[in-house]
Amino acid sequence: MFTDDFKETPYWWEAAPIAERTQGDLPGQKVDVAIIGSGYTGLQAAVQCARAGRSTVVLEAEALGYGASTRNGGQISTSVKFGLAELTKRYGQEIAEGIVAEGQASRDYVEQFIRDEGIACHFNVAGRFDGAHSPRHFKKMAQNVVAGRYQNSGAYMVSEADMPAELGTKAYYGGMVFPRHANLHPALYHKGLLGVARAAGAEVHSHCAVTGLKRQNGGFLLDTVKGPLQAARVILATNGYTGGITPWQQRRVIPIGSYIIATEELPEPLIDRLMPTDRNICDSRKLVYYYRRSPDRKRILFGGRVSLQEADPKVSGPRLHREMVHLFPELADVKISHSWTGKVGYTFDTLMHAGQDDGLFYAMGYCGSGVGMSSYMGMRIGQQAVDDPRGMTAFNRIPFPTRPFYTGNPWFLAPSVMAYRLWDRTGL
Ligand SMILES: Cc1cc2nc3c(=O)[nH]c(=O)nc-3n(C[C@H](O)[C@H](O)[C@H](O)COP(=O)(O)OP(=O)(O)OC[C@H]3O[C@@H](n4cnc5c(N)ncnc54)[C@H](O)[C@@H]3O)c2cc1C
Repeated sequence: MFTDDFKETPYWWEAAPIAERTQGDLPGQKVDVAIIGSGYTGLQAAVQCARAGRSTVVLEAEALGYGASTRNGGQISTSVKFGLAELTKRYGQEIAEGIVAEGQASRDYVEQFIRDEGIACHFNVAGRFDGAHSPRHFKKMAQNVVAGRYQNSGAYMVSEADMPAELGTKAYYGGMVFPRHANLHPALYHKGLLGVARAAGAEVHSHCAVTGLKRQNGGFLLDTVKGPLQAARVILATNGYTGGITPWQQRRVIPIGSYIIATEELPEPLIDRLMPTDRNICDSRKLVYYYRRSPDRKRILFGGRVSLQEADPKVSGPRLHREMVHLFPELADVKISHSWTGKVGYTFDTLMHAGQDDGLFYAMGYCGSGVGMSSYMGMRIGQQAVDDPRGMTAFNRIPFPTRPFYTGNPWFLAPSVMAYRLWDRTGL
């Protein structure tokens, strides 16, 4: 099942290791902006703050980019999971239109940023294919396309007969293509973004957990493992890794493990038959599996949620392999070279959120669709922290819900996963 050189770390770290350990302490330093978390949100915010002339320090508890930003599937969508009708019901037309527009903007922003900054990260507008898991799902997809639910996306249907051009599996009853969706190499993107933030003047500290945060003299005092730091403003960019130093946010973000495997290198004719395109692939189940070819087109990267409780990558790997083989029986003897996990930041309303409380800014809750959106929201929250009016988003205008007795431990996850599994079996 596992290759001899099997690793429990992301395949992406082969091309972009996150080994750097920065030097230097923070002996009571005073800065304009302190950013907690060095993923896409934190670094995009840092670019904005530093370019606006603010002294900016990024503090990361682990290695730089340790969180979801170097572990994800690299799929870029428009990120917002609801259509205009549902959002209008919830928030009224103006905010709903704003949210839909931010979704589109997030996808376009990340493309433009990568091009403008010349980041070599295999950015590829390859599109996304959503496989219909049952005839009923195919019908629903077709109805949505005809009704224009996916405004300006160019979404179109693929019949079961045309499936071989999309995917070499008999598991789907056709599906739907979103041609504007893109993908990239997440860790190379992170590495490039880190370089941009540093070039802009941001100071970045790895292995520098923030262990305490309190208000002092109209600003903040941060306790870190490298000493104290005073900051006029703080940006919280911790998403699925949000902890006890910010209990208000911790009560609103649900950390959920997501799991990915990479296969060993496959023969070219096999991968070309099974995955003839570079598209991102998802299916219509509630417990979604997401997969794609690696940027060098030699491996399959297959991800999803395969356990009720959080699991070790050695345990999740074979389970993902089983699901992959269910779709592609020809891969039964193919070995796993990498199996890893990372934390997605979910929310109770399945939307991302941004806001501030008297100088403490936050952007988080991307619900598993954060490559484009966390980049965009990081950029926007950075603008907000330097009082740039362009920073305001529709997500600042909606409530950030929690639930009674929820304090950051998602005890309800196992029963939810179980219920979704049963639901998926019905094909409804
Ligand atoms: C397995 C997996 C697959 C995914 N696939 C996709 C995908 O294909 N497409 C997509 O759009 N999205 C995907 N996502 C989601 C996406 O990766 C995230 O939404 C995005 O990376 C969030 O970025 P971030 O900067 O907000 O948070 P992160 O990158 O998670 O960074 C948060 C950081 O905060 C640090 N931190 C926390 N507390 C402290 C503290 N007290 N002091 C200092 N540092 C602290 C953490 O160590 C962490 O490094 C996936 C996520 C996972 C885990």
